[in-house]
Amino acid sequence: MSFKQFNLHTQIETGIEALGYTAPTPIQLQSIPAILQGKDVMGMAQTGTGKTAAFALPILQRLLSGPRKRLRALIVAPTRELAEQIHEAIDGLGRATKLKSVTIYGGVNKNPQIQKLRQGAEIAVSCPGRLLDLAEQGEINLSGIEVLVIDEADRMFDMGFLPDIRKILKRLPTKRQTLLFSATMPDDIRKLAKEILHDPVTVRVGEGVPVSTVSHALYPVEPHLKTALLMKLIERTDTESVLVFARTKHRTTRVAEQMQRAGFPVASLQGNLSQNRRQDALSGFREGKYQILVATDIAARGIDVSGISHVINYDMPDTVDAYTHRIGRTGRAAKTGDAFTFVTPEDRGFVVDIEHVLGERIERRTLEDFDYNVPAPAGGGGSDRARYSERQGRPANVSRFSPKKRGDDSQRTGPRPSGRRSGGRSLDGFSQYRSLSKAR
Ligand code: AMP
Repeated sequence: MSFKQFNLHTQIETGIEALGYTAPTPIQLQSIPAILQGKDVMGMAQTGTGKTAAFALPILQRLLSGPRKRLRALIVAPTRELAEQIHEAIDGLGRATKLKSVTIYGGVNKNPQIQKLRQGAEIAVSCPGRLLDLAEQGEINLSGIEVLVIDEADRMFDMGFLPDIRKILKRLPTKRQTLLFSATMPDDIRKLAKEILHDPVTVRVGEGVPVSTVSHALYPVEPHLKTALLMKLIERTDTESVLVFARTKHRTTRVAEQMQRAGFPVASLQGNLSQNRRQDALSGFREGKYQILVATDIAARGIDVSGISHVINYDMPDTVDAYTHRIGRTGRAAKTGDAFTFVTPEDRGFVVDIEHVLGERIERRTLEDFDYNVPAPAGGGGSDRARYSERQGRPANVSRFSPKKRGDDSQRTGPRPSGRRSGGRSLDGFSQYRSLSKAR
């Protein structure tokens, strides 16, 4: 199978070659012909499947004929990182076409974006808030939009963007082609899709299942030992870029700071950072200046770094869906990757859920020479707030006495978010985690 079968313009084929794509991915094979025919598409595909090119290539083909310097395609994405990434893909694939794409998102000065719009572009890749803002100011004209793409619709819904999406829809011509991509199909997205898609072709690739090129492993650990285990694991494992997920902004910053003090090339990415610092973290990670990036889920949305060899869940995600999205950051485009997940005793119900979705048992691993018996610091309530000796990756100033039996990760406040089951089933392997086996 090659891209030739789509009869794309030679200028677009040049872009495909420039990016080094030789064969279309399954989502591309299924959706490109339908989109080229002008049909609406509902694409159920997770990240890492090649879905960006699946919509970008037929859009470029369509825009090659017709007017220039007016907005004709609108792509709406939940985060600025994803918007930038889509923009870069379009830029790469469409370089020879001279079609122009602009990005529009908040958190940065709007004037350069307005300037670029005024200079004339055919494609806008945008986050909902700033797009509405500029539309209300009369700085963006959406009346000529022929194709609308709603990307990562489920995430958009999670982030509360659905009302904004509806407002955007009101500003668009009703006669248009609409493409909606989502990794999962919660009821609200299904309802939205039903309202806005006309006779859509449904394309489904590995719905809700993490990419198959990723191998999974669980590392049972008490909460207070997570950072020490993380450092040791990275030291011991042959890695390229490593993306670490923590649950909160605060934890993200703290873990990155601890690792930095211990001499690891690490950056953190979380929603409170200025756009400049986000860009520095992301480009530093992409270019290899930081081998490790510690991030929250939302901040990591849309990160496309091809050399991510390992995703480490320092904290369990809250839903199986979030697990899928995190894991989709490695093993991209048929490269292989490893997903390591730290599990505390209270995560055991969730492990059962993930195994159910994967359809297989996940291997439990322990790290040789790692002291799993170091107790939680006195007064720490079993939290992983302890400071670690940077040299040994082990809590400083704690004497050794018998380990706490049960971890209480005090950073997690309040009940588990709904939708996450927390069953009482036993996490097979947890009780034996002190037996040693070598990490890969
Ligand atoms: P996406 O799911 O769109 O985020 O794409 C995931 C990754 O796959 C990106 O790094 C793309 O550049 C890459 N990619 C997309 N299509 C192909 C293809 N046909 N062959 C090889 N890599 C691809």
